[in-house]
Amino acid sequence: ATERTSLFIFFGGTGDLAYRKLYPSMFNLYKKGTLREHFAVIGTSRNKLTDQGFQDEVRKSLGTAKSDKEAEKFISHFFYEAHDVTDKEHYSVLRDRADELDKQFKLQGNRIFYLSLAPSFFGTVAGYLKETGLTDSKGTDRLIIEKPFGRDFDSAKQLNDALSKSFEENQIFRIDHYLGKEMIQNIEAVRFGNTLVESLWNNRYIDNIQVTLSEKLGVEERASYYDNSGALRDMVQNHIMQIVSLLAMEQPVSFTDVDIRAEKVKALRSLRVYNVADASTNFVRGQYGAGDSQRAYRDEDNVPHDSTNETFVAGKLLFDNYRWSGTPFYIRTGKMLADKFTRVDVVFKKPLIDIFSFPQNHNAPLEANVLTMFIEPKAGFSLRLNAKTNGQGFQTMPINLDYFVDDKDSKDTPEPYERLLHDTLKGDGTNFASWSEVSYAWRFVDQIRKVWDLQQPEFPNYTPGSMGPAAADELIQRDHRQWFYRL
Ligand code: NAD
Repeated sequence: ATERTSLFIFFGGTGDLAYRKLYPSMFNLYKKGTLREHFAVIGTSRNKLTDQGFQDEVRKSLGTAKSDKEAEKFISHFFYEAHDVTDKEHYSVLRDRADELDKQFKLQGNRIFYLSLAPSFFGTVAGYLKETGLTDSKGTDRLIIEKPFGRDFDSAKQLNDALSKSFEENQIFRIDHYLGKEMIQNIEAVRFGNTLVESLWNNRYIDNIQVTLSEKLGVEERASYYDNSGALRDMVQNHIMQIVSLLAMEQPVSFTDVDIRAEKVKALRSLRVYNVADASTNFVRGQYGAGDSQRAYRDEDNVPHDSTNETFVAGKLLFDNYRWSGTPFYIRTGKMLADKFTRVDVVFKKPLIDIFSFPQNHNAPLEANVLTMFIEPKAGFSLRLNAKTNGQGFQTMPINLDYFVDDKDSKDTPEPYERLLHDTLKGDGTNFASWSEVSYAWRFVDQIRKVWDLQQPEFPNYTPGSMGPAAADELIQRDHRQWFYRL
């Protein structure tokens, strides 16, 4: 791999995300040669730690032993500064340390500032980085921020305005780790690499598209955050909107971040923003009750007993454009569902005339063709076609053409954070959410939220291990359709 050169400063560098995902991902980049001699890391948080103490923690996060020479060389690039992000004066200490490491490791002034912190600090950090001159080095400056990006359009805009005072849009990398997943990126390969697919990719041939992000677990230790967010903000505004825009967009002029984002934004702009009546008919929400060996959401630790927070969302999205008019996108996501998986089911229209099921043939009617994209845990595709059964007589039956990434290859699949750190080192924003995308997604989601906030939901309304409330089935059955994945 091409070696990349940069200093990394992690704010929240002793947090769960940093230890669990970020440092192990960087080590993978090191083993592959993307990071080698010319990189250094400054970890910061309010904790008091020495460089040595920090390196010990990093070693633990990698799960390596002191005898592992390669790991030790990697870890020797890690340094620590205790730093309160609200303490403006102290940024000069960081700046001096950064300049020093820049010289020592010949980093060419390239800097990546990673904010693995509560979003309420993003604006403050970005502002002080600039005011204290940390962004004045001669190389590139890039800012990575974690989700959530606001809790509605107004707060997202406020946050973005604050960041924009210090960083240009092309310097801001908003993490949506779904975009780092291999199979999400495969959506583009399958669509734009195959005549068979792209020529049918429209409302003449596709009946509907279904996106399901299903989680098997409940809220776990994120309860207090989640109860203030809910499935709509936590999953739909970001991950689902990103997946939907990749499915709905026109072919980009070239395969570059600028062109891809332009098409995604165009798609999101033609997404119909619902009025009150349409929002309440086209979206449903749910909250799980108690199961056999599972507490109800309201009885989980750190969740209020009368919480009206949704742990499930299903909805119908409509694009008002020439390609999609009349072809709905159905989406659903939730916690405590039957299984953990993410998939897209593209349901094609049935043949206009079914010559095989004329009464004299006693044949079952033809099934629709379905292209399923399995995103996780198993990555692959399945295309359902109709074929003739073997033997005398004439019966048709659905058969599947399947492709799955084999286990050996999936072991080599980079973790989302590894890919996203690599993209940031290259300055490639393709797999990050741009401000326009974020803002159009909020514009849509805010309308649903507004309607929901006016109504008292009847919760709980689904059992753990199901695929959500009955209302989610009714939503699609009303249109004389069914969820393709169902129990
Ligand atoms: P965490 O609570 O484990 O870590 C937060 C870090 O911030 C700690 O190192 C803490 O010392 C530091 N910090 C807090 N206040 C500070 C201050 N005033 N000055 C300096 N440092 C301060 O959180 P986390 O789970 O690592 O998450 C970090 C960010 O990533 C959050 O924005 C979160 O929403 C996001 N995120 C995390 C995950 C995950 O898997 N943990 C997933 C998605 C998004």
